[in-house]
Amino acid sequence: MNEPLDFLIIGQGLAGSLLARQLLARGCRLQVLDDGHRSAASRVAAGLVNPLAGMRFNAAPETADWLRVMRRTYAEIARELGRPEYLHELPMQRLLRSPRQRRFLERQQRNPAVADYLGAPFGPGRADPGIQAPYGGFLQHATGYAELPRLLGELRDWLRARSAYVSEAVDYQAIELNRDSVRLGAHRARAIVFCEGYRMRDNPWFGVLPLQPDKGEMLRLSSERGLCRHIINGAHWLVPIGGGQYRFGATHEHHRIDCEPTPEGRTALLQGLDGLLGDSAGVRVEAHLAGVRPATRDRQPLIGTHAEARRVHLFNGFGARGTLSIPWYAERMAGYLLDGRPLPPQADLARCGDGRR
Ligand SMILES: Cc1cc2nc3c(=O)[nH]c(=O)nc-3n(C[C@H](O)[C@H](O)[C@H](O)COP(=O)(O)OP(=O)(O)OC[C@H]3O[C@@H](n4cnc5c(N)ncnc54)[C@H](O)[C@@H]3O)c2cc1C
Repeated sequence: MNEPLDFLIIGQGLAGSLLARQLLARGCRLQVLDDGHRSAASRVAAGLVNPLAGMRFNAAPETADWLRVMRRTYAEIARELGRPEYLHELPMQRLLRSPRQRRFLERQQRNPAVADYLGAPFGPGRADPGIQAPYGGFLQHATGYAELPRLLGELRDWLRARSAYVSEAVDYQAIELNRDSVRLGAHRARAIVFCEGYRMRDNPWFGVLPLQPDKGEMLRLSSERGLCRHIINGAHWLVPIGGGQYRFGATHEHHRIDCEPTPEGRTALLQGLDGLLGDSAGVRVEAHLAGVRPATRDRQPLIGTHAEARRVHLFNGFGARGTLSIPWYAERMAGYLLDGRPLPPQADLARCGDGRR
């Protein structure tokens, strides 16, 4: 019988793709199985890179490392594939949503850990022309967006050319764990890594972990008049992606979890757009998309190995900021799988104990 592969990777979203690339670079033999991006959040995401999360503009302690590895990773992939850059660095105008948020900003202005990301504040009405900013805002650095749909498509072709990609919907019941390998139909490997995004909730080994799927809808817009020069980020984000095209989003929904765009989502987005632009005449909706962020209850990824099934691994839970964090975590995960290096404790699924935390 043929030697088993080193890994089967289930899911070719950003997580599965970047982990596969790391493992291939280390000489592993593997196969990535994906059902044609049926539920890929990575194909819907705006790909925004924003080091200061949430209403309070907090930065994770790993942010500088995330940024460094992210820039290097996307630039290397573009070079290796001979394709245009995927990452576009572009400053962001962060719009304050209330007078209370100005106090959060003032607190962060005294915090040396975020100084590199904070630019000049601006007063009410001083954002890009036409953008409604009643409470003013500030310029943010180290921001931009990555072209994730193009990146995923081109990485899929790259994997396929190395016989490392199979288009297949994986049925969990068909996975057999043996003493020395994992078998899935005709595929056999020493280990399996699940990267299925929010559909991990149906996974018989990891479905019990505290995932908190967060459905999001967004619009792709076009306009002959320029809507903004910066990335705009307030109650909604508006991202100029060139050629008179924009991405606008997004909604959050925690109950109806599926990948279907809804009339309610569209209405909420169009109202948000009117609020942001004041006048959205001449703006055309080119596409309306929906996906599910694989968010977690404690907002940290879920990565590591099943407590009993030691050939079964997970690389998931990247929530709303996979563009920035997945490149760094993919390097950590490869170091863990191949060299036995410890995982970042905040992301190690072992923190969840019996899984219910
Ligand atoms: C509307 C929206 C906006 C977002 N905006 C941003 C943003 O601006 N910036 C940012 O950083 N993040 C953003 N995100 C979050 C981002 O999409 C995620 O962090 C990231 O894409 C997660 O990648 P993933 O590979 O873990 O999951 P996914 O991209 O969901 O990939 C999982 C893959 O596994 C496949 N799969 C699942 N189950 C099976 C199976 N049984 N068999 C075969 N294949 C399977 C799926 O079809 C899919 O291709 C946004 C998400 C949404 C929904």
